[in-house]
Amino acid sequence: MTKTKTYDKGKPIWCAGCGHFGAKNAIQFAMEAAGIEMHEALVLAGIGCSGTVQNNIGAYGYHSMHGRVVPTAIGASLANPDLTVIAAGGDGDGYAIGGGHFMHALKRNPNILYVVMNNGVYGLTKGQDSPTRENPGVAPEECALDAMMLGLSIQSSTFLARAITTRSEQLNSLLLKGLEHVRAGRGMAFVEVLSPCVTYHDSYPQWMNQVHDVDQDPDYRSDNRGQAFGQICTMSEQGQIPIGMIYGGKHKSLQESILGTISPFESLDEKNQPSTREHLDKVLATYTV
Ligand code: SF4
Ligand code: MG
Repeated sequence: MTKTKTYDKGKPIWCAGCGHFGAKNAIQFAMEAAGIEMHEALVLAGIGCSGTVQNNIGAYGYHSMHGRVVPTAIGASLANPDLTVIAAGGDGDGYAIGGGHFMHALKRNPNILYVVMNNGVYGLTKGQDSPTRENPGVAPEECALDAMMLGLSIQSSTFLARAITTRSEQLNSLLLKGLEHVRAGRGMAFVEVLSPCVTYHDSYPQWMNQVHDVDQDPDYRSDNRGQAFGQICTMSEQGQIPIGMIYGGKHKSLQESILGTISPFESLDEKNQPSTREHLDKVLATYTV
């Protein structure tokens, strides 16, 4: 009989004061508050400073390739619908090299929680500008990419939220809501965490002054895509960064669309497929002279 050794989670290797500590703690809080046992969850991470977060949580973990954390998470979620799948990564990983996967994931609405720790830089490679770095007056990188506006523009997005690590209560609550959304089979929950890199781009002072909490704004409509889009646009033009529940809506999840009530493993069943050996023999026969 094989006995597996319990995996001990390691200590984070981030710089003192890095925002990622807050993001990691919030993920752990939300998992605990949702009653998720460590063996019921898989945490996947991309490449970058945030890409080590899966080592520090204690659930099943997977370190994916650069920009590929989202499709890898979707594959895991399709293969085992009982698993709670959490993808995490940075803004460079998710919005640059992984940008195509990100927008198509929002379009397909899979049952995964995706947490992007946004700090406006590539911290691991010593501070180059990322897609979310604003450089006023410096063409062509003057404007920062806004993932909330991108998400709002995709009709099948169902859960879009942003938080900042300095407001841990709101961050915890949004991640918990995101996990509940995913576990109820309502599709992808996307939470961007403003998580400054204190070593290469300490945006804490700036961002703390710019954030506008839409959860406290009686005029904000998180249940209306069109109105939310217009309001986010206006806030952005005024130099504000909206945080809180940006949009919540309903759309069929990827799992509902393609799996229905059938387990993904049933499609591999021999009664539905020609036997692998028989198929292989046929393919090999086409190469004989
Ligand atoms: Fe965090 Fe920046 Fe240090 Fe990376 S370089 S661990 S992002 S503070
Ligand atoms: Mg980054």
